[in-house]
Amino acid sequence: MDLIRTANKNHYILDDFHQELYLCHPLVFELVNNPHKPDISKFKTSDSDLIYYKKKIEFLKSNNILAPKNLDYLHKFSSTPEHLIKKLANCNHLVFEVTEACNLSCTYCTWGKIYNIQNRAISAFNVQKALSILTEVLRLRESPLNTSSPKELTIGFYGGEPLLNFAFIRTVVCFLKKQESQVNFNFSLTTNGTIVHKYIDFIVENSFSLAISLDGDEENNSYRTFSNNRNSFHKVFENAMLIKEKYPEYFSKYVSFISVLHNRNSMDKTVKFIKKHFDKIPMVGELNPIGINSNENDEYRNIYKSYYESIDKEECVFYGTSKVETKSDGVKNFILSYNRFLIRNYNDLLHDFKISRYPTGTCTPFDKKIFFSVKNGDFLCERIGQKYDLKIFNNGKLSCDQTSKILNELFEKAFKTCKECSKNFLCKHCIFLMDISDQAKCKSFLNKAEFRYYIEELLAYFEKNPGLYNEALSTCWNI
Ligand code: SF4
Ligand code: SF4
Repeated sequence: MDLIRTANKNHYILDDFHQELYLCHPLVFELVNNPHKPDISKFKTSDSDLIYYKKKIEFLKSNNILAPKNLDYLHKFSSTPEHLIKKLANCNHLVFEVTEACNLSCTYCTWGKIYNIQNRAISAFNVQKALSILTEVLRLRESPLNTSSPKELTIGFYGGEPLLNFAFIRTVVCFLKKQESQVNFNFSLTTNGTIVHKYIDFIVENSFSLAISLDGDEENNSYRTFSNNRNSFHKVFENAMLIKEKYPEYFSKYVSFISVLHNRNSMDKTVKFIKKHFDKIPMVGELNPIGINSNENDEYRNIYKSYYESIDKEECVFYGTSKVETKSDGVKNFILSYNRFLIRNYNDLLHDFKISRYPTGTCTPFDKKIFFSVKNGDFLCERIGQKYDLKIFNNGKLSCDQTSKILNELFEKAFKTCKECSKNFLCKHCIFLMDISDQAKCKSFLNKAEFRYYIEELLAYFEKNPGLYNEALSTCWNI
């Protein structure tokens, strides 16, 4: 239980036991907040009112509304090899790091001087190893362990610049097309856009989902340079235009843009530029926060721009040092988390509202995808760096024994930190973006006082913007 008083002088009880919020009378707030020495002189209250509010508090206590947080709702992720193999049989997205090589030397690249990753090799993914992995995954997908429907499998190609190893891509696509399989294969490719014109016929013919990296106009894109420091903007823009004009239907359906936010662009400029020329809204992300080279901290801070900083500073809630999110998102997340009357989908009708949950937004392993790197191992996805190798395939042979052990240990370490964090019922973070060493450290960890301040800010904003309630509901009602 926590007591919240907003800047608008409204008082609330945050019931962490049932995950609900109650508006309360200021006198109730005072009586609960200072049970031994309440200052009731500031309230014009009759004796009968006082008795009434005291009885009310007894009623709240007897219904556990003033009880401490119920951490039994939190549970640790734990897996067995059998459980993971079943998950793998149902995983519908595999991503291969086709090559580490790239023809660009972008300033903020994770292989560049700002990050710690060493020994970038010009090595490529071994194609035989990829075919062994695919054969094993297909065997599982066609087994009774696969209970997902429809039987779609997306194969993603990632780099470096994946098109520098086009032979790998073509071999994998041809291999899968030759399979007599009930699985439908989809392909996706993330490219820097500089040489895509050479392979576009093949890409279109196989209906690849194509994500092109472009940070906006020439100035916005100026961190994305060739090794001679020349801005890649003109080449990428020309290639994207070529696809748009030569294959308009394909472009409209399959092409998307991804942009990185930094001090030479902004959400507004980047989105407007790409919308104007390509009629698309790019997916905009921040610089990778993992593995910064300590000698380059200043350079990183200089280039880094937060997503929220770029949207609307007024709308941000700051807590701690670098912890930010938009107030609207925070309020909506709060409404969805502290509201037991919401039904998000049919499954919610089958459970008690006290569904136990893992205290973060981390996906359940293999629910979203698996990422295979050239030489550093197998990971949950390409967005979390290459630190936590899950060792799923050993020389192309599947073995989840080690994977299960590794995952259980990582989740166990993170859980110890998350259990102590006051934000755990509201957390949307991925634990693989924190430093999970002996003791996991999370930049967004909130102690009790920080959490109270955070909720006060959100509720004050909610009081001014009550329409957020309906907005939150419209995102969750899937029935
Ligand atoms: S970033 Fe984390 S939560 Fe998101 S897909 Fe990757 S592993 Fe899952
Ligand atoms: S420590 Fe970080 S990841 Fe864990 S619950 Fe808190 S905010 Fe979320």
